[in-house]
Amino acid sequence: MSYRRRKPFKACKKCGALVPHEELQCPVCGSREFSEDWEGMVIIVSKDSKTAKFIEKNKPHMYAIKVR
Ligand SMILES: [Zn+2]
Repeated sequence: MSYRRRKPFKACKKCGALVPHEELQCPVCGSREFSEDWEGMVIIVSKDSKTAKFIEKNKPHMYAIKVR
């Protein structure tokens, strides 16, 4: 029997934003394409933060670092 832990979020394929599974549209970029295959998590609280500049996200949100 195989056990796979389900992630609590899915990631937007376009911008990497993490959203709950029941969400149909990305609140950041409006895309409707999501992936369950993502890694890492970063939370941007301010667009001026060092982290936001580093990963080139400019809208405060929760993002996956890697989306396949
Ligand atoms: Zn998006």
